[in-house]
Order: sequence, then structure tokens, then C-alpha cells
Amino acid sequence: MSIEKQNFETQAIRTQTEKTQFLEHSTPMYLTSGFVFEDSEEMRASFAEEKDRNLYSRFSNPNTTEFVDKICKLEGAEDGYAFATGMAAVFSTFAALLNAGDHIVSARSVFGSTHALFTKYFPKWNIETSYFQVDDIAKAESLIKSNTKIIYAESPTNPGVDVLDLEALGKIAKKHNVLLVIDNCFATPYLQNPIKFGADLVIHSATKLIDGQGRVLGGVTVGKKELIREVYLFSRNTGPALSPFNAWILSKSLETLAVRVDRHCENALKLAEYLEAHPKVNWVKYPFLKSHPQYEVAKKQMKSGGNIVAFEVQGGVTGGRTFFDSIKMCSLSANLGDTRTIVTHPASTTHSKLAIEDKLAVGITNGMVRCSVGLEHIDDVIADIEHALDKI
Ligand SMILES: *Cc1c(COP(=O)(O)O)cnc(C)c1O
Repeated sequence: MSIEKQNFETQAIRTQTEKTQFLEHSTPMYLTSGFVFEDSEEMRASFAEEKDRNLYSRFSNPNTTEFVDKICKLEGAEDGYAFATGMAAVFSTFAALLNAGDHIVSARSVFGSTHALFTKYFPKWNIETSYFQVDDIAKAESLIKSNTKIIYAESPTNPGVDVLDLEALGKIAKKHNVLLVIDNCFATPYLQNPIKFGADLVIHSATKLIDGQGRVLGGVTVGKKELIREVYLFSRNTGPALSPFNAWILSKSLETLAVRVDRHCENALKLAEYLEAHPKVNWVKYPFLKSHPQYEVAKKQMKSGGNIVAFEVQGGVTGGRTFFDSIKMCSLSANLGDTRTIVTHPASTTHSKLAIEDKLAVGITNGMVRCSVGLEHIDDVIADIEHALDKI
């Protein structure tokens, strides 16, 4: 045992900002927009960055710093910056690192709003994106051009729960001297650390399992110090900072991440196994089911399978509608990673803006259900889903 390098759970609990004069046990909320200086010399030195201290909460705040420090430790990252939402983290990271005319190589299956950045907004700045299928990593290499700056992927993907071989992507990125940026939202730092496999930067929507209770939005980017410096400078000027209040909540949430995610995964695997045997279900995808196409990769890079189960009910649009309208307890919502189990219809909600062929390319069919398995007793979740499947 080492007291130098603490374990995940301990770091998630014991990483705290310095206590104040009151010696509080739990970190207080620092709801202040600014900070004062002793004198003109301190003011000058602080703005010249000769002194490392809080100046203004758009730049840093004790609560956001505590949250970022924890994520850095849990991901094995050098530095980070916290954002108001996951999408602010995704956008600001790209915007900080890319120039007009640069090129991105991305997995085809990415979060709906990230897809919108690639297709609607980045082309305005002449930033083009080329795509590879999640199971064709070799294609990623063939898409790299002289102006490629970033390889981007999520694993597991939203909503298809596909798994990408992070080690293989890391090798390609290194060989071609491009950055590897991974959206690690579905896995959380507890199940997977992309930096170990060669990622330069890791992004989280903290809104999901990191908050874990469906209360606040947040995002974070962590990774190499010199890259985070660019992300920080861009963000300190453009203003997507996480609020101290939300940072306080998210840092508290991290204290229980490991125990929560353990139970989420246990419940999700039970539901996935149940669905796999159900006659009204065409297919089920869960990273730790042997039938998952990338099961071996998932086992290699993840501690457990996560809390998202994707499946297709029989009967296409009608089957899907009957299923959703017959659900009694689980929530019909677009969020995920809550204590409450949520069922989502990606085709008509989170991914509705995708063209039909783009939906099919990432496995989104009309009968597809994305289930974010919560922390209720799993027997009650299964009973609710069973009742809805019986109605089809
Ligand atoms: C939700 C989500 C995001 C965006 O996060 P917000 O906090 O909603 O802005 C990005 N990536 C993935 C994989 C997500 O699930």
C-alpha cells in the first residue's frame, strides 16, 4: 500500500481546496465573481501571471479548481478547465486548437450536437471533417491529410453504445503527429482512462453520470498542460466557464461516483441479459455482453460496461410508440446518467436532426431504444420494461 498514490475512491473524496479559517470539513461554496488584491503590486503580478491565484471566476474559482483537480487525478491528466456544459467543453476545445482550414477525422457515431458542429458550424470556418465507422479504425488512418489536426471519438458512443479501440487510435494519432481527443462521457473516469491509451485530451459532459442525479449541467476538458493552456486562454476570453455553484455540486458528486457507477453497471448488465432473452426484442447492445461486436475491446479498456443499454423493439415505429406509451415508471426523457432510469427514442429526439442515411450509418433505427439504467431496484426497472414489451 502506498500513501503517495491514493486509489480512485480516496482521490475522489480527499482532493479538496485548502480549508478556510473555519476549518470546515466539507468544502464551502465560493459564490463570488471576483477576488481582491492586497495592493497595486499584487494586482499587477497577478494579472501578469507571476502569481498563481484566483482573480475572477470566469478564469478560476476555488470550487471549479477543486472539481478540475479531481477530474485530473481521476483521469491521470496534467491540467484541465471546467465548462458550463459538455457542449461548451467540446466546442471550446476544438475552437481553441483549430485554425481555419484545419481538418478533423472523427468517428461517424458522435453526440447529436457534436455532429452539428462538424456539419453546420465548422464549415463556416473552412474546417472540414471526415468520418470513419466505429469498427473500421484503419480507415481513420487513411483519412489523415497534411492539414489534419485532431482525431475525435466517443467510446462507448451515444446512442449506439459502440466501442472504439482507443489503443489503436492512440497509435495512429502518435504515428501521424495529430491530437487524439476522446469524449469519455459514457464511461466516466471510473470505468476508462483514455490518456492511458494515448489520448491527448479527454472531454466529459459532467451533466451525466458525474452529477449522476439529474440536477446540473457541466463539462470539463483535461489533458496535456500545453494544450489545456490554449483551451484555458480561449475560454477565459470567451466565457463558457462553469458556475461555482455547479462546480460545488459536481465535486461533491464525484465523492460517490465509484459506488454509484458500480451499481449502475450491475443493474445495466442485468437488464441487458434480460432483454437479450426477450422475444419482442430484435437486438441488444451493451459493451459487457459477449454478443457485443467489440466485446473484447470493451473488456480491454473498460472496468465495466457502463449504464447505457441500446436495444430495438419489434414492429418499427408502431412498436416503438407502443413501447414508450406503455412505460409507467421509467422516465421518458433525453437526459442520461440519472439515478432514475430513462428511456429515450434517439430517432425522434437527440438524433432527430440527422439525415436518415446518417441515422442508419450509426445504427439508429425507428425501433431503437436507449435506456440509461438508474439506481432503482433492478427488478422494478425490469418489471416496467417487461410490461411495456408485453403491449407490443
Ligand atoms: C450529453 C453529451 C454531451 C453534451 O453534454 P451537455 O452537458 O448536455 O452539453 C456530449 N457528449 C456526449 C457523449 C453526451 O452524452
